[in-house]
Amino acid sequence: MTATRPLAPYVIPWTGEFTPPTRIVISPAGVSYADATQDAAHRDLDGVLWEPCVGTRTGRPAYAEELHPQRQRDAMENFRCAVCRHPADRTPEGMLWLLPLLDDEIPVTGWEGVQTVSRPCARSTPTGLLSCAHGSAMVT
Ligand SMILES: [Zn+2]
Repeated sequence: MTATRPLAPYVIPWTGEFTPPTRIVISPAGVSYADATQDAAHRDLDGVLWEPCVGTRTGRPAYAEELHPQRQRDAMENFRCAVCRHPADRTPEGMLWLLPLLDDEIPVTGWEGVQTVSRPCARSTPTGLLSCAHGSAMVT
């Protein structure tokens, strides 16, 4: 008999993964890693510096931790579902997005500045959750 590996959303870190100690430099140009090679490896095309993460997807899903930086970056840059890593769904109206509820007190003048929650595929949205390859076991 083999042990069943728990299922977790793609972007969730595991207890076998961790952020290594990394020396950073703060200068008038901004924040960077002291190691230029590491800085280049973790900086995206927009110049955003991403946190390194090492280790393996072993142990348990660490739901209380920050999202896994490389998998979050992969999901964002490649328009993948943050839950099952499937390509985000598109319809004739565009790409499916989950957006936060807006405060009724604040007048809505547009969607500028509203941060998305994730780019899900239809299988991983609340209404499509049960049909997601992993969804029924990932979200409670
Ligand atoms: Zn999905």
